[in-house]
Amino acid sequence: MAEPLKKVKIEDLQYLTRFVSDKESHLIIKNHQVCADCEGKYCTFFCPGEVYKWEGDRMFVGFEGCHECGSCRIGCPEDNIEWRYPKGGLGVIFRLA
Ligand code: SF4
Ligand code: SF4
Repeated sequence: MAEPLKKVKIEDLQYLTRFVSDKESHLIIKNHQVCADCEGKYCTFFCPGEVYKWEGDRMFVGFEGCHECGSCRIGCPEDNIEWRYPKGGLGVIFRLA
């Protein structure tokens, strides 16, 4: 009989990543006013990299910590995030455990 899968926390998995940052963001907020009017600020919940932070009256995008999961392509109900992969060789690097 197969052994049960070991439970792991997302925080533990994040130690298996490292990032090679670009100088320019690959994630662009299209219209900051749309974020100001967004009641749910959903991106601050669904992003596993905690990239989006609402501070004061503005959305800050810590693109350097993006895991490139692509969730913000579909998660923002206003389609207010322009998403693309970082340039080749940059961005997240997943290491094997
Ligand atoms: S979910 Fe979309 S519109 Fe709402 S705060 Fe985030 S990026 Fe802005
Ligand atoms: S692609 Fe994933 S990790 Fe990167 S900003 Fe979007 S939701 Fe966050």
